[in-house]
Amino acid sequence: MEKKPFITLAQAQEIIQDVPTPFHLYDEKGIRENARRLNQAFSWNKGYKEYFAVKATPNPYLLKILQEEGCGVDCSSYTELMLSQACGFSGSDIMFSSNVTPAQDMKKAYDLNAYINLDDLTHVEFLEQVAGIPETVCCRYNPGGVFSMGNDIMDNPGDSKYGMSEEQMVEAYKKLMAKGVKHFGIHAFLASNTVSNEYYPMLAGILFKLAVRLHKATGAHIAFVNLSGGVGVDYRPEQPANDIQVIGEGVRKQFEEILVPEGMGDVAIFTELGRFMLAPYGHLVSTVLHQKHIYKEYIGLDACAANLMRPAMYGAYHHITVLGKENAPCDHKYDVTGGLCENNDKFAVERQASQRRGIAERGWQP
Ligand SMILES: *Cc1c(COP(=O)(O)O)cnc(C)c1O
Repeated sequence: MEKKPFITLAQAQEIIQDVPTPFHLYDEKGIRENARRLNQAFSWNKGYKEYFAVKATPNPYLLKILQEEGCGVDCSSYTELMLSQACGFSGSDIMFSSNVTPAQDMKKAYDLNAYINLDDLTHVEFLEQVAGIPETVCCRYNPGGVFSMGNDIMDNPGDSKYGMSEEQMVEAYKKLMAKGVKHFGIHAFLASNTVSNEYYPMLAGILFKLAVRLHKATGAHIAFVNLSGGVGVDYRPEQPANDIQVIGEGVRKQFEEILVPEGMGDVAIFTELGRFMLAPYGHLVSTVLHQKHIYKEYIGLDACAANLMRPAMYGAYHHITVLGKENAPCDHKYDVTGGLCENNDKFAVERQASQRRGIAERGWQP
């Protein structure tokens, strides 16, 4: 889809009278409409709830907007729990999905009465020692191996530090039941930034079948399945966007085929989307400080990798628009850089994108 900013040059010039660049600007209307589309897409499930992954944008104003749209929060640290508490989230509004969890974080999540998602079998005893055993506990699943859809390898769970094996899930559930836990959740995050309407339905199929097996093996009541994050966005102009309505229907089909016949139609679906909730609705607005012509052409911005790390960290593509020149021909090639004394402080390398057609910066092909 064409990348059209939600701000004009005139609006930007007005804003910088009060707020100098660089700054992040968010589109509240876009955020709310997207959250409503998501809730609508899963409205067939009675207990459905989105727990926004706070790490994606830990900003109290944005958390409040999502709260008003019916979202909870997914926290992974003490600080995120504190931020969420300050924004008025508590109890079942909070999912605590952490790993390498410090004792004080676990205790904080327990004290807030949050849903606790255990990353490892050893965390059963750890939770009991440092906090206590709640009535509902979630466990994070890692199937190992590679996760593929058709011929495409999507990600590599066998290489990922998160979650536990199915045998460990069974053992964790049994131990937790012996300690008085009444209700259980299942969580897994198997592929990141998927641009495919197939990911969530496929993950749902895997987790629903696991839910049936865990219920049969332990007798545990499975209260929810948490599909976690991973629904991505179309960073590149030539990429198709995900259609959340199609994704919701795909999950419903799996639900009706797998869980309903087993008498497990009361299972609630949770999601922990981060990127999908905010990435398309945020801009980093920056001013060009200098142009430099040496062996390559450089555009130097007043923003740097500290303001947006993904290009420097992952070589990620982020679309860049020159305000006021939205429709001008793109007949120059530049590296767009920040001013850190690190040569990877670049927002784009050899970018020659036009508004209508981006370049394949790192070999990505439509
Ligand atoms: C990062 C993260 C998310 C959000 O992932 P997105 O890809 O941004 O949707 C959800 N859950 C957990 C546990 C995470 O670590």
